[in-house]
Amino acid sequence: MKFSDPIDVASHCARAALGLMDRHNVPAHPNNFMVWYAYVADRNPDLSAGVNGILRAGQKFTDEVNADLFERFFGTAREEAELRAVGQRIEDAVSRVLEFLTTANAGATQYGAALETFSGHLVDAPEPGNLATLVKTILDETKGMLDTNRELEHRLETSSSEIARLRIDLDELKREASTDALTGLANRKLLDVSLREAALSAEEDRSFLSLLMIDIDFFKQFNDTHGHQLGDQVLKLVARSLTDCVKGKDTAARYGGEEFAVILPDTRLKDGVNVADTIRRQVASKRVANRRTGQVLGQVTLSVGVAEYEFGETLGAFIHRADEALYLAKRKGRNRVMSQEDLTSSTQIEFEE
Ligand code: GH3
Ligand code: MG
Ligand code: MG
Repeated sequence: MKFSDPIDVASHCARAALGLMDRHNVPAHPNNFMVWYAYVADRNPDLSAGVNGILRAGQKFTDEVNADLFERFFGTAREEAELRAVGQRIEDAVSRVLEFLTTANAGATQYGAALETFSGHLVDAPEPGNLATLVKTILDETKGMLDTNRELEHRLETSSSEIARLRIDLDELKREASTDALTGLANRKLLDVSLREAALSAEEDRSFLSLLMIDIDFFKQFNDTHGHQLGDQVLKLVARSLTDCVKGKDTAARYGGEEFAVILPDTRLKDGVNVADTIRRQVASKRVANRRTGQVLGQVTLSVGVAEYEFGETLGAFIHRADEALYLAKRKGRNRVMSQEDLTSSTQIEFEE
């Protein structure tokens, strides 16, 4: 969550947050302060609804309640711990490299000093007998220096491949934490984060934001008839159609089971409906076949609900509206797109004149 309030607004919010924290016996730790500042500034409708719920229920702000609020709206504790662990390993590897470099530097200084002594002795025109000793000394120093360099090179190579490996681990960790393993789409967690960010940007820029909720029709029947494995292939096929039909800032996610969601920033309801219908048509146009036997298994269809974000509403309310439209699409016969506008008209009772 970005905080970009001007100084007077920020100091007003900070004072109000501290006042409220004091009144509700919430320790003014930085994490708690973030929650209460965001609450006072009304930055996130869900956070406000969460705090209001606790206040209304007369619940106490215990350490657990405070930690839970922070974790829900700002935290990613487990991943942070994992990322910190990999970060620590990278730091260790880098400090080992620095250590080698310091050793190497000391070796080079010593070598330089030996050379200087040697050239000093040469200038002083050494005895022929001494010259042999001097040359031997300098050869030993040179050999020592070469050994140190070789060792250093070896250690640097080991360290840099270790760092490269750690970087891959880190990228993988980041990707895994937010990806659905079967379809490769964003998972529910990333969807929640992206939706929260999209709603905040929409609030800030006063822009449109649409959400599609998508559910495969009669999927239980498909699984029962053709087996779970082919069912999984269908999930992948739907995922591919989603990625084909969205672009740029849009986020396609697996919401759970056989349900998907698409976040469409800068998109008003009617354009969201168009995107939804393109996805629906694309999936319906495919004939699913068993690759092994060649048997045609028929058509897979989707029902889609579309909602447009209303400023100030909670994400729960936003998702709920898209869900309601989705279930209307199911009730109306499936393989169709319904929007929040259809909800009002479908509950209207119409009289003929
Ligand atoms: P509706 O048209 O009303 O949506 O009917 P439906 O059969 O699609 O809905 P229902 O909620 O009754 O069944 C959903 C099915 O989705 C149940 C389950 O077998 C299937 N499903 C959920 N997750 C997975 C998955 O990961 N793989 C497979 N193969 N099937 C899944
Ligand atoms: Mg379902
Ligand atoms: Mg279904």
